Amino acid sequence: MSFITPEALKAAAQETWNTLKDRTLSPKERTAIAQQPMPVQPPEVRKFNIQEVAIGYSEAQARIEANRCLQCKNAPCMKGCPVSINIPGFIREVAQGNYAEALAVIRQSSILPAICGRVCPQENQCQKACTVGVIHKDVNQSVAIGRLERYVADWQRAHEAEAPIDNTVKPATGKKVAVVGSGPSGITVAADVRREGHDVTLFEAFQKPGGVLVYGIPEFRLPKAIVDKEVEGLKQMGVTVVPNFVVGRTRKLKDLMEKDGFDAVYVGSGAGLPRFMGIPGEELVGVFSANEYLTRANLMKAYDRAAAATPYYPAKRVAVLGGGNVAMDAARMAFRLGAEEVYLIYRRGRSEMPARAEEVEHAEEEGVDFRFLCNIERILGDDNGVVNAIECLRYELGEPDASGRRSPVPVAGSEFTLPVDAVIIAIGNASNPLIPQTTAGLEINRRGNIVVDDQQATSLPGVYAGGDIVLGAATVILAMGEGRRAAKAINAYLATK
Ligand code: FAD
Ligand code: SF4
Ligand code: SF4
Repeated sequence: MSFITPEALKAAAQETWNTLKDRTLSPKERTAIAQQPMPVQPPEVRKFNIQEVAIGYSEAQARIEANRCLQCKNAPCMKGCPVSINIPGFIREVAQGNYAEALAVIRQSSILPAICGRVCPQENQCQKACTVGVIHKDVNQSVAIGRLERYVADWQRAHEAEAPIDNTVKPATGKKVAVVGSGPSGITVAADVRREGHDVTLFEAFQKPGGVLVYGIPEFRLPKAIVDKEVEGLKQMGVTVVPNFVVGRTRKLKDLMEKDGFDAVYVGSGAGLPRFMGIPGEELVGVFSANEYLTRANLMKAYDRAAAATPYYPAKRVAVLGGGNVAMDAARMAFRLGAEEVYLIYRRGRSEMPARAEEVEHAEEEGVDFRFLCNIERILGDDNGVVNAIECLRYELGEPDASGRRSPVPVAGSEFTLPVDAVIIAIGNASNPLIPQTTAGLEINRRGNIVVDDQQATSLPGVYAGGDIVLGAATVILAMGEGRRAAKAINAYLATK
């Protein structure tokens, strides 16, 4: 399909909206309207800049899209949202142009709509079950719930004076809560606990708060200003944010409670431990975990050659191994760091890839060369120990495995070599082990995840946990949902203390 410029999309939407705005549409008319496409930067432009790829709906687009919603009584979309946002409720307000009211509906369930509207895997969650998509037999024709959520949150940021966020805090209780990790789960707990009047300190190992939202997900998908704003909101509420503080090393978790007077602790330390392949050549110069590669790019601005706080690793041909969001982010970032050819090596087929469909599409448009049904066997280097090629093996799909996906079977004798200058391993992350290792009595499971009950309480009294450290590498909205549940439990626990 040929590229339609943002200006053309917005002009067409304005024309359509002019014909619809004074009419009451029948359900049939609503379903006949096609989903509003997201205006995006042209691929040949965006692959060389770090700015956000998706530009966001215009008001006319948002109003048209909201008018596609059938206001289903049973709201199947809500069952697909991990935090059960009142989706028809907020969309009804958007359809009427009441954006402040729409935001109030969303914020009853989610405090991070600008983020979730951008990065939630909507096609597998709220939008998967949408009646409009079911009628069209195409999930890409579902009501674009995430884009509308983003529109509402962005509208609020642009109209702060007329629609301020209510950051009122109850009178001080004198109770102290430590939150470890400033990702989406930690941010949520800090806000919800502080609102009850408790004193909250948010400890973060990195120099900048925000967790994966700042060091993992790239600027071109999630502008850091949005995350900074959430953290700023916490500070305005009176949360103390302490960067460069590694709980378990700077101070043990139990010391926070026994010596520093914290009445409760929430652990939201995420899943930041990269997994490697264990193949020959992984120790060569030019092999990175996706975590390291993206952290250098995001946190230390490696893409800004003049001002970067980290050495820039020049690589013209980059191979990325993996098929999830992290792999897509690393592959797309490689172009922005100067690569001319980027290969994405994945053992299974396109339909088995766990990455969000939109990210795969964007990566493809930007020129990532997908090598499906293929895996890296070993990484080859020159006499100086620097990567210069990968040796790959082709695969074919066999029977479905325990995950229901057809398992890849190697094709004997199908080895081939690809010359590359850098290899990025993006095959998943495990939980951060430091806190479990330094906190006696904190129960973990065999994967190293902290074990919690249905209130997010751990095996230690007063210690709660949630997000990726409990779930394993998961999603932003699940981490936020766990944070909400934990905050409720912490507030109830402190009320009895
Ligand atoms: P995190 O966001 O990991 O935050 C944990 C924080 O704790 C970190 O800042 C860490 O530095 C800090 N920390 C760790 N140990 C300590 C310690 N001992 N002391 C103090 N601080 C500590 N999800 C989506 O829904 N959509 C996406 O598109 C998506 N894309 C992703 C892309 C990438 C590259 C990555 C890596 C992940 C992506 N995810 C995505 C997953 C999502 O970001 C995570 O599931 C989510 O951020 C988990 O939130 P969290 O609060 O549990 O932990
Ligand atoms: Fe959908 Fe995510 Fe918003 Fe829930 S939070 S409605 S899953 S985009
Ligand atoms: Fe609207 Fe789709 Fe939800 Fe129905 S399922 S209320 S059409 S968003």
